[in-house]
Amino acid sequence: MDRQGAQQNLDMPASMLGSDVNTAAIYLSLFYRLRGRAAEAKKLLGALIVESCEILEDDELRNDQFALENLVKLFTAADDVENATALAVSMRKVNPQESIRTDTVSPVESREFPEPKLPDIQSSNRSCGQCLETIPHHEEFSFCRFCLDSFCVRCLKMIKTDNAAVDIRGDEVVCRSTHDWFSVPPLNKILHTGQMLFGDLDVRDFVEWKNGIKRQWDAERKKPSKV
Ligand SMILES: [Zn+2]
Ligand SMILES: [Zn+2]
Repeated sequence: MDRQGAQQNLDMPASMLGSDVNTAAIYLSLFYRLRGRAAEAKKLLGALIVESCEILEDDELRNDQFALENLVKLFTAADDVENATALAVSMRKVNPQESIRTDTVSPVESREFPEPKLPDIQSSNRSCGQCLETIPHHEEFSFCRFCLDSFCVRCLKMIKTDNAAVDIRGDEVVCRSTHDWFSVPPLNKILHTGQMLFGDLDVRDFVEWKNGIKRQWDAERKKPSKV
């Protein structure tokens, strides 16, 4: 975060930090990548991803949802669908229709900062960017790689046929059949604090994952620009 950014945040309650991350900057990074301006995209993505990781590292858990939500968009903008999907799935509430097999013991380790419990992180349930209805926990949804927004199964069908030009608010819908989406399946496994799910079964340590992506993107943002 730059000096000015740090200054602005002084006026903001710690629980809200990250809610003011400039959404326009996330879309700008996507625009750079789609235009083939890879170096600029990586520099900006690096700065925004590191900033989101730093918000996760403070001792305020309430602002983590903004940082995590932004990270789903940032990984999508970076064309890193594996991390975007894993994070989006891990932030879902567990699928009520799945008979859950799980370890009974919740691993408790003391870390230098409190860790989020990902499936409990969102203060409100994810809603569809078109019909605005809550997406049921047992249904998969689609995340648009261009709109950086979530769409329910029914709306995606309409979008794909371009029959969804107007949403229930009467606003024009931005998502189009020419866009591209990835699927976010239901969360079919109970996750404990500090855990994250990759694929169906691969439970990983959230802090190790976060440290890894922070290192990777810190290096990207520090790469000297070619002249
Ligand atoms: Zn919908
Ligand atoms: Zn779209």
